[in-house]
Parts: sequence; structure tokens; C-alpha cells
Amino acid sequence: MKAAVKVGKERFETRDVPAPEIGPNDCLVRVHYCATCAWCYEEWLRDGVNDLYGPGVTGHEMAGVIERAGEGVTRWRAGDAVLTYAAGHCGECPECREGRETYCRKPMPTVIHGYADYIAVPQQCLLPSPACVDLKHATLISDMVGTSMHAIRRAFAVNLDRGVVAVWGLGPVGLFTVQGVRTFAGVKRVIGLDPVAYRRGLALELGADETLDPTQPDIEEHLRNENGGRGVNYAFNCALRNPDVIDLVFRTLKLDGYLMNVTGQARSGFQAEKRVDGTFYFFKREYDENVRLVLDGKIRLAPVLTHEYPLERINEALELRAKHPDQALKVVIRCVP
Ligand SMILES: [Zn+2]
Ligand SMILES: [Zn+2]
Repeated sequence: MKAAVKVGKERFETRDVPAPEIGPNDCLVRVHYCATCAWCYEEWLRDGVNDLYGPGVTGHEMAGVIERAGEGVTRWRAGDAVLTYAAGHCGECPECREGRETYCRKPMPTVIHGYADYIAVPQQCLLPSPACVDLKHATLISDMVGTSMHAIRRAFAVNLDRGVVAVWGLGPVGLFTVQGVRTFAGVKRVIGLDPVAYRRGLALELGADETLDPTQPDIEEHLRNENGGRGVNYAFNCALRNPDVIDLVFRTLKLDGYLMNVTGQARSGFQAEKRVDGTFYFFKREYDENVRLVLDGKIRLAPVLTHEYPLERINEALELRAKHPDQALKVVIRCVP
């Protein structure tokens, strides 16, 4: 089979490699599409080589069809259309049984190496791809919609006035966060922030009331003017590539505001009664509701998916994603002819 192997800085090579073996609990999945994620292009930008099954998290947003199921597989059969749930988990420990797979006590490797014709995936790390969404767009439902909606649900589960919500960073996660917060009651205004005008334009189309360029000098004052000079109620920090923005985000919050770091970054400093929280990926039990939001048209996938490249042109795809944020959002690799 064909697979992309890292052969150096900014260089993947598509090579012939042996197809993966499957164990009794695994499914062999024919990958149709695999979306590029921030972790993928960060890996691509790094020095060094990496064989197909080496470390790294490249290619973890796959959609495909089960080719063969191991003899212990009970939930799936050949021909099922599936998405990957990348957080490797055992499925049996107390945390997994409670439906908190990202807290698994016996975590398994992340489901990766999706820039290939086939992957082997443990059966608990697959999700059913909805029949009426094509597999290309479906690649965005698991990680992208999942991560955004999990962050929003976690933040809004705290009983605070939602009022004015600021979303920092309007890449794919930020744009799904803009759409996601719009589906909740009590949100009066959504403000999107990103230095790239093209991304701000899309945020307006997808439900933001106002967008701002966070590099403008008066941005802190502008956001602090919300709520009669007290700042914004909620801030979602989705600015993965700008870890320094977090202190500015924090300063623009009301004294009882809530900062959700979708990026996983943390901060220090005087906190008053502001709440600072983080989030990672999502729980499988949230998936059906996420699919429903997509099928109801409340979360739109197509505007966020801007490009498709065949596997053999993966370097162009990752370069576009890594170096041209003004031209591309989600870039998807096609692994089928
Ligand atoms: Zn991802
Ligand atoms: Zn577990």
C-alpha cells in the first residue's frame, strides 16, 4: 500500500509499505480521506525523519470504510463507513466505562498514520460516519466539531451569564466554536478575533456578530468596553499558533468571566474570580449530538473545508496549511484514487 513517510524537514514521501496487520480487536480501515491538523503541519515543519509507525501525531482525522474486522470485533463489519476517534483508550477501565475516554487509566497509542491507504484501528476507536455526509466532509466531524463542542459544553455547564462571547483564533477550531456557541441560549453577542481578514470574513458568515484584528493597539480597550466597561463574559482561546495571546485574552475578561483554553495553554497572574479552564478532545457520548448539529445545518462543514489534495501531493497540502493561513483553512488529503 501507499503511505506518506517523513524523510526530512518539510518533506514527506509517498512510498510503498506493507499494509498494517490487525489484531483480534482491530479493524482494517481503507482510508478515503484524512484531514490535516495543526499537529500534522507542526510535525511536517520539524527537522528529522520518521518511519511510518514512528512517533508523532500526523494523520489522525480519518474517514474510511472497514475492509476487514478482527475475529473479536463485535461492533463493526466490513463495509461500514467510519471515522476515527483518535484518543487511544482501553474501553474497559472505570473512566472509559463512565464515558470519559480521554481520562483512560490504560491509554493506548493515539490513532494516527492516516496518510496511507490502510490503517489498523482498535474497534473502540471508531465512530459511525453519518450516511448523508460524504466521507470528505465527515473527516471534520470527529476531532474538529468534537473538540469545539466539548470546550463549549464544558464552559457553559458552569452557571454564568453567557452574554458576550469572544472567540480568539479563527482557524477551523475557532470557526466551529463560533458556530457552536451560537446554538446555545443566553449568548447575546459573539466576537471573533484573528489577524487574517479572510478568516474574519468567514466568521461573520458563520455567525459572529463582529470581528476584530487582535493586533490592533486598541483591542484590549475595545473588548473591555463590553458590558458597560467590565469586559467579556466568556473567552474561548483557539489561537493555537500564538501562545502569547493568552494574557491579553485574560485581561479582557470580566472579573467573574470564564476563559476556556481550547489550545491547552495555561497562564499565571492575578485571577480575581475569573475562571480559567482547559479542555482536550471530546467524549464519545457527545458524538451523536454533534452529528445532529451537522445534519440540522447548525454547524456547517463545507465553508471550513477549503482544499483537497491527493496523497502524493501531501507536501503541497501541508505547506499551504502551515504557511498560508490567509488562503486555506482545513486541507484534506484524498487517499483513494
Ligand atoms: Zn486534529
Ligand atoms: Zn480506559
